[in-house]
Amino acid sequence: MSAPDLLSQLNPTQAQAADHFTGPALVIAGAGSGKTRTLIYRMAHLIGHYGVNPGEILAVTFTNKAAAEMRERASHLVPGADKLWMSTFHSAGVRILRAYGEHIGLRRGFVIYDDDDQLDILKEIMGSIPGIGPETSPRVVRGILDRAKSNLLTPGDLDRSGEPFISGIPREAAAEAYRRYEARKKGQNAIDFGDLITETVRLFHEVPGVLNAVQNRAKFIHVDEYQDTNKAQYELTRLLASRDRNLLVVGDPDQSIYRFRGADIQNILDFQKDYADAKVYLLEHNYRSSARVLTIANKLIENNAERLDKTLKPVKEDGHPVVFHRATDHRAEGDFVAEWLTRLHNLEGRKFTEMAILYRTNAQSRVIEESLRRVQIPAKIVGGVGFYDRREIKDILAYARLAINPSDDVALRRIIGRPRRGIGDTALEKLLEWARINGTSLLTACARAEEDRILDRGAGKPVEFARLMEAMSDAADNYEPAQFLRYVIETSGYLDLLRQEGPEGAVRMENLDELINAAQEWAQEHEGTVGTIADFLDDAALLSSVDDMRTKAENKGAPEDAVTLMTMHNAKGLEFPVVFIVGAEEGLLPSRGALVEAGGIEEERRLFYVGITRAMERLFLTAAQNRMQFGKTNAAEDSRFLEEIEGHFDTVDPYGQVVEYRAKTWKTYRPTVPAAVKNTSPMTADMAYRGGEKVKHPKFGEGQVLAVAGLGDRQEVTVHFPSAGTKKLLVKFANLSPA
Ligand code: ATP
Ligand code: MG
Repeated sequence: MSAPDLLSQLNPTQAQAADHFTGPALVIAGAGSGKTRTLIYRMAHLIGHYGVNPGEILAVTFTNKAAAEMRERASHLVPGADKLWMSTFHSAGVRILRAYGEHIGLRRGFVIYDDDDQLDILKEIMGSIPGIGPETSPRVVRGILDRAKSNLLTPGDLDRSGEPFISGIPREAAAEAYRRYEARKKGQNAIDFGDLITETVRLFHEVPGVLNAVQNRAKFIHVDEYQDTNKAQYELTRLLASRDRNLLVVGDPDQSIYRFRGADIQNILDFQKDYADAKVYLLEHNYRSSARVLTIANKLIENNAERLDKTLKPVKEDGHPVVFHRATDHRAEGDFVAEWLTRLHNLEGRKFTEMAILYRTNAQSRVIEESLRRVQIPAKIVGGVGFYDRREIKDILAYARLAINPSDDVALRRIIGRPRRGIGDTALEKLLEWARINGTSLLTACARAEEDRILDRGAGKPVEFARLMEAMSDAADNYEPAQFLRYVIETSGYLDLLRQEGPEGAVRMENLDELINAAQEWAQEHEGTVGTIADFLDDAALLSSVDDMRTKAENKGAPEDAVTLMTMHNAKGLEFPVVFIVGAEEGLLPSRGALVEAGGIEEERRLFYVGITRAMERLFLTAAQNRMQFGKTNAAEDSRFLEEIEGHFDTVDPYGQVVEYRAKTWKTYRPTVPAAVKNTSPMTADMAYRGGEKVKHPKFGEGQVLAVAGLGDRQEVTVHFPSAGTKKLLVKFANLSPA
């Protein structure tokens, strides 16, 4: 296809953006306005019209799956587009660190630690840090570290922050935990998810030659979903673009839904400040959704105070009415959805793949799945406890990790007792102690157990284990990934272990089979490239929940034509002709946590907006009057968001008859936001303290909030009163008022 043809498939503004050649550019527009489409066409146009070498184009997307889809779509537009570098920030980080990490002291064969591995390290080190009590969950500490990394903060930066508390933990203790965690991880030749970005940034800062080399591969840079970048990703992008300045980002501030993970909407809002010469393209037409669906989306998002005003006009006709149904309970809700799916499938000839069910939390999927199963509707679940999170999968991958990285103590501790090898806790403690004193890995300690008389009894066992791992290391070098995994499963004794476990073991064995298949498929996809087990492990670690490899393995046996179930977070960027959004209730959407968090409600509203705007033709919203959560059935209230869009949907009874909407109002449902915090700022209906506020106390007088910890009834503030010093107060009882 010749170049002008390409642009004729876009509207005039999209075409201008796609024709943008050099320099910075920002495409900012609402959902379904063709941002992603424009980005793909722009890359094709760069190649087809401007003659840019595809090997010099980079596009960063939110998931690996989105990257693969983009590559596919671009390659239909122009030859050579399969050479584009399309990846997530994390995958780009792995690739760069594997190639150049040695410049900043990363040793070859480093492994990537996941969330659980992080917890394992934290559990080990937390006990000995003053200021961190036994009641502190390692997850809280992990949250602090993750956020610090998203913001490119080092332990030293935490120290200097001046905050007395970080997430309820004394600042010095948090910084110390961070420091020890980093040291431990480094000793084990591992990096975590956050490091994939922060270490790449450090590499670029410290070794300009590397930055330059990578810049040669990324002369034209694109970032999709820019509104959800965090500080670290922002900095990575900035550095990459600093030489050639050909940076085009697209995004929608109304779809920023990862602030809880450190995403900073300011990155997109400040783009024109960062690049004064940036061209800005505003797209105003929505091509995805029927006019009725779009009206609902627009009405809803208008309620956010903190936003840029944008217009989004429908291209499509009114279409079907949007339907709301309030079911008696969560099961009836599932049945209602199943019923409509069947109806649309049988009577309107809809394929199941055209329909999706979206929810706020993964825990909601189980009941829906049951309803679908009863009427035999095939379903494909995205996310949740994923395939790669299953115990047996993690165990075998831990063996593989240890085989390629003998320093990986976390992996070793995971598997040394699976199957049992006669190495008890006391023995393990002694081995650990020896390793610590001698500055070696645990595996080395195992190997030396006899020679160095580390154990009084049974020293032969660890030595035997070390031999097994040595053989596995050799195998890792010599076998194909799938072949190697089979070798691991057999020689480790794991297969025998599962055989003894009866039916449950049989299921686990099937999963391991599936792992081997996944490795096989992966190798086929990587034919002609290196494709070692180490690469496979990288990819397995990087799979985000919407990614193909995971869902393929997870949904094995599911027919091609299946309904998609996923969270609204995972649905970002996707579209379906028919969308069901379930659980439109207070405490779910908005979520309970959001009720007491600063800006929480606005973020939930954006999330609902993302959900609604996935729908192309038909949209169904449902709520339950009673819902089982955490093992208890409670009365539920309609989401406050329904009231905001009232009048724009049809309420139907279980038989599909339209009835009058009468809000089961959320106003009776009051979260535990203390009365005193209301009205401290224009946005406070949903806001508790965030720190920094000036407050007044009946006895201590005026003061300033320094730190906030805990939620709801247990929310605690640290307030500095000039007249009385620094006090820690329970908000519920403190009787604070705005000063
Ligand atoms: P989101 O904010 O949800 O990521 P988006 O702005 O990236 O949405 P796209 O996914 O690129 O939007 O486009 C939405 C739908 O509209 C797609 O099916 C796309 O093919 C279609 N579309 C966009 N622009 C046009 C156009 N000019 N002509 C025809 N179809 C279009
Ligand atoms: Mg998009």
